Amino acid sequence: MRMISEPAREIKVLKEADVVIVGGGPGGVASAIAAARMGAKTVLIERYGYLGGMATGGLINIFPQYERHQRKARIFGLNQEIIDRMKARNAAFSPTRKTGEPPTEKSSIIIWNANMGWFYVRKDPNIGGRERVHYTAVLDPEVLKDELNDMVAEAGADLLLHSWGTRPIVEGNTVKGVFF
Ligand SMILES: Cc1cc2nc3c(=O)[nH]c(=O)nc-3n(C[C@H](O)[C@H](O)[C@H](O)COP(=O)(O)OP(=O)(O)OC[C@H]3O[C@@H](n4cnc5c(N)ncnc54)[C@H](O)[C@@H]3O)c2cc1C
Repeated sequence: MRMISEPAREIKVLKEADVVIVGGGPGGVASAIAAARMGAKTVLIERYGYLGGMATGGLINIFPQYERHQRKARIFGLNQEIIDRMKARNAAFSPTRKTGEPPTEKSSIIIWNANMGWFYVRKDPNIGGRERVHYTAVLDPEVLKDELNDMVAEAGADLLLHSWGTRPIVEGNTVKGVFF
């Protein structure tokens, strides 16, 4: 196969930071918020024009099963913070946090109507095999984009949208940066 050499070129160093995250999906957003809140100078790079990855653009807008059969929420942290903030904007629906609800409650109906009942409404041996909605939140993906922008900005992370990470800059065994 014939090959062509690309000429070497100077690339501008746009920013220096303690933490650089490529990808603004749920994983990247949470990492950026956590790092920035800890005081690290943080840059979040996302290729598209919005945050949230699969949870917004992919319309995978259900944050599932924060508890199992013990009827107690087990997962909190940033997930819970996002749900609370989205609820304050009337953009998240979930059954109650601690106990779940029978599938007649408004939020349960929303889950059923979103065609996700098979996943989140289960027969629970702890209540005699009756059906119960596990603590799960359905979020409005458009409002979520906006809310994640706010959370990243409030944390003090530097957000670069429409920016594609192309290659890590590795020295020895250490990643020192990223071309984008
Ligand atoms: C069909 C399907 C159904 C699912 N259902 C559910 C569900 O109901 N509930 C649930 O909780 N989870 C569900 N998941 C899993 C959930 O979507 C993932 O666990 C979650 O999205 C992972 O988050 P992430 O941030 O790692 O990746 P992603 O959400 O994929 O985010 C990656 C981000 O990185 C960006 N990116 C990628 N490459 C680059 C690059 N080179 N430069 C810059 N940016 C880049 C992307 O644009 C994107 O914003 C489902 C997944 C699939 C595929």
